[in-house]
Amino acid sequence: MDLAERFVKNHKLADREEYRELLKQSEDKEVAEYLRREAVSLRKQYYGNKVYIRGLIEFTNYCKNNCYYCGIRRGSYRAVRYRLTREEILDCVKKGWTMGFRTFVLQGGEDPYLTDQWMADLIRSIKELCPDCAVTLSIGERSLDSYRRLREAGADRYLLRHETADEKHYRCLHPEEMRLSVRKQCLRDLKSLGYQTGAGFMVGSPGQTYRELAEDLRFLQELQPEMAGLGPFLPHQDTRFAEEKAGSLELTVRLLSIVRILLPAVLLPATTALATLDPAGREKGLAAGANVVMPNLSPLKNRKQYMLYDNKCCTGAESAEGLSKLAKSLEELGYELSMERGDYPFPIGTLFTDPI
Ligand code: SAH
Repeated sequence: MDLAERFVKNHKLADREEYRELLKQSEDKEVAEYLRREAVSLRKQYYGNKVYIRGLIEFTNYCKNNCYYCGIRRGSYRAVRYRLTREEILDCVKKGWTMGFRTFVLQGGEDPYLTDQWMADLIRSIKELCPDCAVTLSIGERSLDSYRRLREAGADRYLLRHETADEKHYRCLHPEEMRLSVRKQCLRDLKSLGYQTGAGFMVGSPGQTYRELAEDLRFLQELQPEMAGLGPFLPHQDTRFAEEKAGSLELTVRLLSIVRILLPAVLLPATTALATLDPAGREKGLAAGANVVMPNLSPLKNRKQYMLYDNKCCTGAESAEGLSKLAKSLEELGYELSMERGDYPFPIGTLFTDPI
């Protein structure tokens, strides 16, 4: 318990080895429950009972990258490719706006069609349609200049999971032409431009042990992102990891609690992957310290095509159509569904000086 107590008190540990030890010790039910309670109490302190709702628009599944785990990677020949038109995206936004959504998350593969000009025009149109909404981008690695142009066009937030902070493990998940150092630089660039920035990783990805997860936690401690995305790894049938085991529910929720303690005010989703893994995944994620849910706002005809992993949920409470059902189930659990923008509650954009 000593280590867990010190972590709760300081919101950080000394080094990778201590994070590894914390992960090991949290296998103990009592330690895990202690961390969970502390995580929930921190979330309450910063956000009360609010759970923030973000509208997710998966607008292209074209991708020039070939991440080994991903169902829409370049080499996934069976993936049926689509790209929403600007009008279709704006229709999703209008629909979401009418339902009360005030954050739109534009996510996609690294589609070469998405030039700075095209993206900037899109962002400006969304901001014209709904001046008080927040626009979150999740379109992968780009140059500092490109991130700057999109920020100037009005983008508020950017999600870019680092996926793994360990070099060797990164090589096990990505092809030769991709670089962990580039990913980390992108995150640093995004922060320096004043984006509310989200990093994160998959739990239980092939080759991952506590050693790698400990480095992920250490990296988050250093980066201090405003948002963190973590969900279980889930296999996709057309990838080399088709036969690998999915990440565990128990470990994912334990990590959600640890990340909440590490970054007390972080915006932390109970992810679709968690809800896909287990019917009670979303509830368990919230009970572990998560405070964001991202229902799918994409056109119904395309939802099945954004298949990052097998059986990805895109209906019911994971969809915009299921919003009232989601609200009801959250209320029953004592949460309050919030459609506000829900920005990070502290100043953004502080340049951090430590090297990542
Ligand atoms: N192209 C963007 C968006 C990627 S999709 C980018 O590079 O950031 C969003 C997230 O889905 C990824 O960051 C990854 O963590 C997750 N993902 C991809 N394949 C997955 C799988 N098989 N299991 C679980 N999560 C997966």
